[in-house]
Amino acid sequence: MTKVPEIFGSMVFGDKAMRERLPKATYKALKKTIENGEPLDESVANVVAAAMKDWAVELGCTHYTHWFQPMTGVTAEKHDSFIAPNGDGVIMEFSGKELIKGEPDASSFPSGGIRATFEARGYTTWDPTSPAFVRDGSLYIPTAFCSYTGEVLDKKTPLLRSMERLSAEAVRILHLLGKTDVTRVATTVGPEQEYFLIDKDMYEQRVDLKLCGRTLFGAGAPKGQELEDHYFGSIKTRVAAYMRDLDEELWKLGILAKTKHNEVAPSQHELAPIFSTSNIATDHNELTMEIMQKVAERHNLVCLLHEKPFKGVNGSGKHNNWSISTNTGENLLSPGKHPETNTQFLLFLAAVVKAVDEYQDLLRITVASAGNDHRLGANEAPPAIISMYLGDDLDALVHSIINGEDYHSAKAARMQTGVDVLADFKKDKSDRNRTSPFAFTGNKFEFRALGSSLNIACPNYMLNTMVAEELRQFYEALKDADDLDAALKALIKDTFTAHQRIIFNGDNYSEEWVAEAERRGLLNLRSLPEALAHFMDKKNVELFTRHSICTEQELRARYEIDLETYCKQLNIEALTMVDMAKKNITPAVTAYVRELSDAALAKKALSDAIPVSVELDAINSLASKQEQFVRLTAELEDEICAAAAVEDNQEKAFAYRNRVFAKMEQLREAGDGMEAEMSAEYWPYPSYTDLLFGV
Ligand code: ADP
Ligand code: MG
Repeated sequence: MTKVPEIFGSMVFGDKAMRERLPKATYKALKKTIENGEPLDESVANVVAAAMKDWAVELGCTHYTHWFQPMTGVTAEKHDSFIAPNGDGVIMEFSGKELIKGEPDASSFPSGGIRATFEARGYTTWDPTSPAFVRDGSLYIPTAFCSYTGEVLDKKTPLLRSMERLSAEAVRILHLLGKTDVTRVATTVGPEQEYFLIDKDMYEQRVDLKLCGRTLFGAGAPKGQELEDHYFGSIKTRVAAYMRDLDEELWKLGILAKTKHNEVAPSQHELAPIFSTSNIATDHNELTMEIMQKVAERHNLVCLLHEKPFKGVNGSGKHNNWSISTNTGENLLSPGKHPETNTQFLLFLAAVVKAVDEYQDLLRITVASAGNDHRLGANEAPPAIISMYLGDDLDALVHSIINGEDYHSAKAARMQTGVDVLADFKKDKSDRNRTSPFAFTGNKFEFRALGSSLNIACPNYMLNTMVAEELRQFYEALKDADDLDAALKALIKDTFTAHQRIIFNGDNYSEEWVAEAERRGLLNLRSLPEALAHFMDKKNVELFTRHSICTEQELRARYEIDLETYCKQLNIEALTMVDMAKKNITPAVTAYVRELSDAALAKKALSDAIPVSVELDAINSLASKQEQFVRLTAELEDEICAAAAVEDNQEKAFAYRNRVFAKMEQLREAGDGMEAEMSAEYWPYPSYTDLLFGV
């Protein structure tokens, strides 16, 4: 491998490339846009476009594409070449207009009913705050996406808006506190990404993995994750080669890939980057997921990003580490040495506590997906109940504020290793809590309930907006105070007191917590349909419209799209199951039963004295299971038809959850029961042992 600092960002039109290639005045104008959000002149855009094109062509590019994040959950791109006719030949051209605006046909992207198909036009608009990059011979330009009539049709726009809103509200508060040098505040995110790697040849033989990203049948392997030997275990050679390749690709694109390790389940791994601003972190996470899958192909592997590819072992999630920092370099969620006297920190902490309590439904909604429904509350991921963990130290502080008592910080103890050659070191003030959905981890919050394939724009725009709203309310409460100090103290105390129910430092996986949360009046929204039913609640609509993140219509569109996507995904899964059951599993069982029958008959023909009980028992057991299996398959088909016929999307989602999904579970159990009794030679699919231990 070449030296990392040399390849890092070599495919990005970032600050270095801009400085080298843009005239000083253009560079300055562009920087102003990037840093202060000032509008960009078309003449400046023309110069930037030309420089970008020259740079990209030198790197072998023939095309450019506006790259955007529609409501499909995956990114979208449409490539145009740089060529323009010139006499007999062509020249390579790229204008400021082409850089700034694209016009993809929007009619085939989900719009939740806000865009009629005859209004096909959509616009993509350059987002200069996320740098352009080169991949596979194309110049990629990160863009926002809206309809002809201006409705927001993507995930980036609300995120950018929410960052602006949070910045504006935070700056107002900071000015009130005397920090007048702060002019902008940015949210930062570091998303830890989990994934599975399996052998491509195995994958190719599983139609469920190919169509749904998860196994719909599959009896458990004799070994799972019970020995806890995979977590942080030594990385296998083939996986290590993949990870090396992946890091290199990510670094070229300026992605700060930092940590890699084996995760809990066999074949499961994790990659964590160093954090960046929410917008760039989102783009980079989308890119990371794509590149993970592309690089896997080169190694004859497949990278699975589904939340629950395998039953019986952990699924994959994403941890959204989130903080707020100022343009003067201060982390607003950093408690400092003396949090008890750090009013600014306590105020921002109070804003987050209040936001998480008041908008717990939104945080649950934003992580809801067909895939994530398998994980939340299944003792492998946080429960469907949203709560916050503050750690012992901070929790004690919050309670001392609530009760008006003195606070004594637990002094950071030194860890005595008891071995001379090992250095003693300072212990963290609080232990890690792995079970909380929303944990304070030193100077940031870690939102842990995200599914592995989720676009992190959504949780982040919701989080930013709800915190912006609380800061707005705080500002209103404080701005005319005669005694600001007293008003601040009272506000912090009142906020912690009113919202302490959301703080829970215990084991979120325990039964007791479910009961306790209910007593506290916290929501427990177990599945997507239950969660989504709260999406359009008045307070949520007010939140997003007040801060101009989305209109009510756009919000409703998002709600409808989420429900539709859920129903479609379950429909595909159910149809795939039926297909597997009828075309492969049932015929395989019949064939094996026949083989057993032939064997028994052959034995009998040789001599009546040879026992055939083995064959007969196996035939009996399999034949009766098969009957049940075929009956359940037919029942599943009926449920699919019934659910598909429901008109209202919310009710339809409930039908898919309560009827179709419930039947799928039964069918799966019956199928897995037969697999356990079948000859491997006859079973039509690679087993869990092949899949989970095949690399
Ligand atoms: P864990 O202990 O949960 O495995 P890691 O150290 O692997 O944590 O990951 C922590 C993540 O948090 C990293 O992506 C890191 O860059 C990110 N992070 C650290 N500081 C901040 C911050 N101020 N804002 C956002 N993310 C941060
Ligand atoms: Mg983590």
